[in-house]
Amino acid sequence: MIIIIRFRKLLTIAAIAVCIIILLNIIFGAKPSVVTSSKALQTNLTTPITPLATTAATPPTAATQKTSESPGSPSPAPQKYIKWVDFRIPQAAMEKAINVDIKSHAPDSKVQISWIEVLSYLAAKYYGNMSSYKSKDMDQVVATLNNGETIQTLSKGYKLFDYYFEAYSSVLSGLVGEYSTEYVDKAAPNTKLWKKTYGLKAFSPFGSGYYYGHFDDFGTSRSFGYKRKHLGHDMMGSVGTPIVAIESGTVEALGWNPYGGWRIGIRTLDNKRSYYYAHLRKTHPYHANIQIGSTVRAGDVIGYLGMTGYSTKEGSNNVKKPHLHVGMQLVFNEVQKEGINQIWIDLYDIINLLQKHRSQVKLDPITKDFNRVYGFVDPQMLD
Ligand SMILES: [Zn+2]
Repeated sequence: MIIIIRFRKLLTIAAIAVCIIILLNIIFGAKPSVVTSSKALQTNLTTPITPLATTAATPPTAATQKTSESPGSPSPAPQKYIKWVDFRIPQAAMEKAINVDIKSHAPDSKVQISWIEVLSYLAAKYYGNMSSYKSKDMDQVVATLNNGETIQTLSKGYKLFDYYFEAYSSVLSGLVGEYSTEYVDKAAPNTKLWKKTYGLKAFSPFGSGYYYGHFDDFGTSRSFGYKRKHLGHDMMGSVGTPIVAIESGTVEALGWNPYGGWRIGIRTLDNKRSYYYAHLRKTHPYHANIQIGSTVRAGDVIGYLGMTGYSTKEGSNNVKKPHLHVGMQLVFNEVQKEGINQIWIDLYDIINLLQKHRSQVKLDPITKDFNRVYGFVDPQMLD
């Protein structure tokens, strides 16, 4: 009997407690009972990784502040994306990592190694300071991977790995891969044959046989318009030198720009970056195939070196020394394409890396345009 009475008392207390909780919820407003783990949120983001420092320093943009207004549904997390990249991988490190990657793609290789993962691991290990790069550190990583360890387990202790992998992928993911190209066999010099290759598929912007001089001038001071930093790479050469597309992509900008003169902007097929080729020739700046929206293949002739720019007047030849200005802009979110939050990177080491991969070009005496000599198929264009 006593037990039954106590049980009833307990039930009454529980009922009162539930009523109080409901009442408090009505007064203060109940939150939707949707539990969203940080892992689930991450998978919903297109570009989930942002370095801590820049996340804190950069206010959310109008685009990232948009939330769902529908009643009862949880607000989506603000979209996170990388806001800053300081790209400084020495040419030697890139070259070595590419060779490891290519070797691991041979038919008899048991383990496939991504050069971008290897470099991202090293960057995370050096806390981003790639000037600490040592060849033997890369040997160690590669040996561990070849022994069956995965990059995921290897990089577990390095918080910056995901950031560097995303940042480096946005710069480098189009440089190495599969492609098909024409070539001439010595045994049959009059016949072109096709071969499928895995390797460096991006081209130096200077056609084969054309000289250029350059140094690392990214970030140096410029004064036309206003005092600013040089956000590209200058390659000194002769007026009329055929300029080729470094990577395949779609022409997204064409025409006069007060800084760049006659210029071409090409967005890569994965949309992650844009190349900017500027100061093209006053007369005949572009190849006839180049129009807004047209697709170009890596190594196609796109235009000709000149000295246009530094004027609002179209066609002005105000650049002192003929050169190509080439830039690479990273786009993690479309809001970064224009305005003050653009990310441009130093191309010096990449241009050095591409020095050995040049597109052979030939003048067509009828059209007066240069064209590539050897056919090239980029599988990315067939997707
Ligand atoms: Zn420049």
